Amino acid sequence: MRPIEDIQLVRPATLTDAALLLAEEGSRLVAGGTDLLPNMRRGIADPAVLIDLTGVAGIGAIEPHHGQWRFGAGVTLATIERHAQIARELPALAQAAGAVAGPAHRSAATLAGNLCQDTRCVYYNQSEWWRRSNGWCLKLKGDTCHVAPHGKRCHAAYQGDVAAALLAYGAEVEIVGVEKVFRRPLAELYHDDGAAHLTLGANEVVAAVHVPAGQAGRVSGFRKARTRSGMDFPLASVALALRLEGGVLAELSVGISGTNSHPLKLDGTYALLGRPVDDAALATLGKLVAKQVTPMRSTFTASNHRRLVASATAQRLLRELAAGAA
Ligand SMILES: Cc1cc2nc3c(=O)[nH]c(=O)nc-3n(C[C@H](O)[C@H](O)[C@H](O)COP(=O)(O)OP(=O)(O)OC[C@H]3O[C@@H](n4cnc5c(N)ncnc54)[C@H](O)[C@@H]3O)c2cc1C
Ligand code: SF4
Repeated sequence: MRPIEDIQLVRPATLTDAALLLAEEGSRLVAGGTDLLPNMRRGIADPAVLIDLTGVAGIGAIEPHHGQWRFGAGVTLATIERHAQIARELPALAQAAGAVAGPAHRSAATLAGNLCQDTRCVYYNQSEWWRRSNGWCLKLKGDTCHVAPHGKRCHAAYQGDVAAALLAYGAEVEIVGVEKVFRRPLAELYHDDGAAHLTLGANEVVAAVHVPAGQAGRVSGFRKARTRSGMDFPLASVALALRLEGGVLAELSVGISGTNSHPLKLDGTYALLGRPVDDAALATLGKLVAKQVTPMRSTFTASNHRRLVASATAQRLLRELAAGAA
């Protein structure tokens, strides 16, 4: 780790000003800094100007908005975790926020920072001398991926917990650019590429996240499998939102994080609708998950183990939530 020196810190009053500042080469947004600052100290990121959004009015607010909840980009994870109404209406979100890192991190870490955090890899989240002595890698300064040496892309894993819950709830992100403000489904914030996993334009800023408010009859939850239960990135994080009608599944939505270069909204859950949550349904869910997660050798844990963990975590969560809802 190296010291951080000679940084200019600017604090714009509006998100449009932030977008304008972002257009300048060498500038970067900073929120809680819990992802960016360690990466700067490892020489992975090297911005000359940091754009701090804490001066933007309402950036840290949670408010009801036309039948949805609007979470400002700068809401801290501790605020989400401790918000009593969110815990009742959107329990998977509160649980996911509370599963990130440790309490001190969560008091500084923000929602947008969590969604936009860099992907991770055992060959990348290392000190500069370690990476240099390994010939760097395709993601930064090198030309070979040590995980898949014959491939042309980076397989670093996206390990943000909160996106899994937001995908299960069908959240949208609000984005501010220099000339426009627009919304897009959260899934479209990401590419399947560990070296460039965000679809944000060079001068676009995440302004807020919109989540449909809690619905009658819907139950939801989040589970994170990790090696160290005290504090660790996920082997797999899974969130489910479902509704049972007459003992069978009427709605099911699944978000998964930690296994691919982007958080994943599980496809094909319609195959489970109209079915009771029995062993056959759990087997179907397990197969859907195993087919769509693509863990690679970018973490210390074997790829197939992470695939099995993701499937089992989803199956357990579905069984528990369905039993609670019945
Ligand atoms: C020891 C340790 C353990 C951790 N464990 C976990 C974990 O278990 N789960 C997990 O999910 N994360 C974990 N993290 C990663 C990180 O702490 C969290 O993801 C945190 O939520 C990042 O938020 P932040 O506000 O600190 O982001 P920052 O570090 O400030 O920013 C992260 C990235 O987001 C960009 N960004 C910030 N705001 C915006 C915006 N409004 N629009 C567009 N881009 C923006 C920044 O430019 C930067 O690239 C851990 C980190 C550490 C150091
Ligand atoms: S997956 Fe490959 S290219 Fe990406 S960070 Fe790891 S070693 Fe580098």
